[in-house]
Amino acid sequence: MASFKPSVIAKPVNGGGDRVGLPHCNSGEIHVIIGPMFAGKTTALLRRIRSEGNNGRNVAMIKSSKDTRYAVDSVVTHDGAKFPCWALPDLTSFQQKVGDDAYEKLDVIGIDEAQFFGDLYEFCCKAADHDGKTVIVAGLDGDYLRRSFGSVLDIVPLADTVTKLTARCELCGKRAFFTYRRIEETKTELIGGSDVYMPVCRQHYVNGQVVTGAAKNVLESRKVQSESCVEAAAAI
Ligand SMILES: [Zn+2]
Repeated sequence: MASFKPSVIAKPVNGGGDRVGLPHCNSGEIHVIIGPMFAGKTTALLRRIRSEGNNGRNVAMIKSSKDTRYAVDSVVTHDGAKFPCWALPDLTSFQQKVGDDAYEKLDVIGIDEAQFFGDLYEFCCKAADHDGKTVIVAGLDGDYLRRSFGSVLDIVPLADTVTKLTARCELCGKRAFFTYRRIEETKTELIGGSDVYMPVCRQHYVNGQVVTGAAKNVLESRKVQSESCVEAAAAI
């Protein structure tokens, strides 16, 4: 696998600090931030992106257009911090949306709620390997059934670093690794906040049905509501 290309020989040994000269001589990087909901993933991503921006690097943020919980054109954390972003249905369209020139000038690309992007692997490969970008990805590693969510875990073999953040268990305050769904709805992609999800520790995840009496009450009332809706619909 020996390579005699001058560009490879000229590549900086430290992984690329030369921001003035040839951008594509810099090698790209991929950093992945995972964890359950309410673990501060978006906050960590924003901090990294802001810090890169403060260091004079050109940054851009992408989020899924499926997630419109807080704002359409901003990434917003649960505690209200904001950053402008591109809300897109997929990542492949990003370069076209921003334009080739603007894409070329970008140093760092942040991706929030990465579990919603089916083309995450292809995008990260191209952006880091071929285009020399630093890509910082935040997303859920698992869904509410603790199954791998979207393509987030598929990019772990591509990554320079992987950080798993934890939340606080809403029931006991211990470290929470999982996202518990409070309501009875079985589709994987159900976008919601603390009304639908809560972070829980292992014990409370496993004992979920027993300990979440409050959640059950919500569930029961919703059931009654939806049954009466069905009845109303049937009556019409
Ligand atoms: Zn707990």
